[in-house]
Amino acid sequence: MDAPTNLLDLDAEAMAAWCAAHDEKAFRGTQLLQWIHRAGVADFSAMTTIARSLREKLTETAEVRELQPLSDHTSEDGTRKWLLDVGQGNAVEMVYIPETSRGTLCISTQAGCAVNCRFCSTGKQGFNRNLTTGEIIGQLWLANRKLGGVAASGDENGQRVISNVVLMGMGEPLLNYQPTLAALRLMLDDNAYGLSRRRVTLSTSGVVPMMDRLRDDCPVALAVSLHAPNDALRDDLVPLNRKYPLRELLAACNRYLDRAPRDFITFEYVMLDGINDSDAHAKQLVSLVRDTPCKFNLIPFNAFPGSELLGSLRQRIRAFGEILLQAGIVTTIRKTRGDDIDAACGQLAGAVQDRTRLAQRGARIVPLVPVQA
Ligand code: SAH
Ligand code: SF4
Repeated sequence: MDAPTNLLDLDAEAMAAWCAAHDEKAFRGTQLLQWIHRAGVADFSAMTTIARSLREKLTETAEVRELQPLSDHTSEDGTRKWLLDVGQGNAVEMVYIPETSRGTLCISTQAGCAVNCRFCSTGKQGFNRNLTTGEIIGQLWLANRKLGGVAASGDENGQRVISNVVLMGMGEPLLNYQPTLAALRLMLDDNAYGLSRRRVTLSTSGVVPMMDRLRDDCPVALAVSLHAPNDALRDDLVPLNRKYPLRELLAACNRYLDRAPRDFITFEYVMLDGINDSDAHAKQLVSLVRDTPCKFNLIPFNAFPGSELLGSLRQRIRAFGEILLQAGIVTTIRKTRGDDIDAACGQLAGAVQDRTRLAQRGARIVPLVPVQA
């Protein structure tokens, strides 16, 4: 017998194709999307508007394959982090960050990552495998269930529990393009999660040709991990820069802006002590992005075992940000959330593996850089 179809893998188009292949009318596909994603239902017998004959067919041939959490921790500040089993010893992480006016879910697209940025614990793990559409959207599906708010409803104030999704967890989304695209389409689909394009942000290390494809296929808000103001430094920090250098990357950002739901690109910049955080770097950055409408998000570095790097001190981050602000660039410093549960991107799953490796090597554990209030 064939393996059951995981219906979480199917966006609207694929669901319509599945219905056609099973002699079912197209509106059944819409109903299924609504039951699965809007109502958060996995059990076919509970899908009461679906004809009994189809429910039986579904039970025989399909499933809604839930991701299994290996751990679930809530930080003192309310940040909640799950480590999700994706089989064969691999795990990915998902983080929920509640704020007064919004709730942001940070999800992963790959187990590991091949880009191997110097400061990233996911990169240090190497690449394991791409997640499927069902595993990417399955994170939103699961978080909705765990947080007690299905997509189309909200809390008692009518506010959605998950109002924003960011693809900033483990992996490079644009190196797992088709599954990520189908998952994005489900996030935006009114029969599924109905999120606006402005509230879904894809973060990339700069896979230039795929940025163009995303602009054509499904332009959501874009964040680009810049981290350096010149090619020599970026080649070292983000090895993908050797393939797609800054000039090409910025040109791709400008092309993306033609179709983007927001009129700026968010540049992410991890602040590394003595590496990319001087006044001169900030000034070089200002001239680099002169022709690209953008905002900067300065990210305090999250040290991890074996990272061999230090984060910039708080006052250095502020001084750096001041130079960008003086040049008229909107700049924010990312709040550190969930420090007590290692809730930064790429931290927890890495920690599981790193601890074992470090114990084997007897290495020194680099402490988190203290952040002054
Ligand atoms: N691969 C994509 C998305 C996942 S990484 C990308 O690189 O954009 C999401 C963000 O976390 C990126 O901006 C990345 O640079 C940042 N990041 C990775 N490791 C980090 C660390 N140790 N401390 C702080 N930020 C980190
Ligand atoms: Fe991959 Fe992003 Fe980490 Fe770089 S920062 S290694 S692209 S996950």
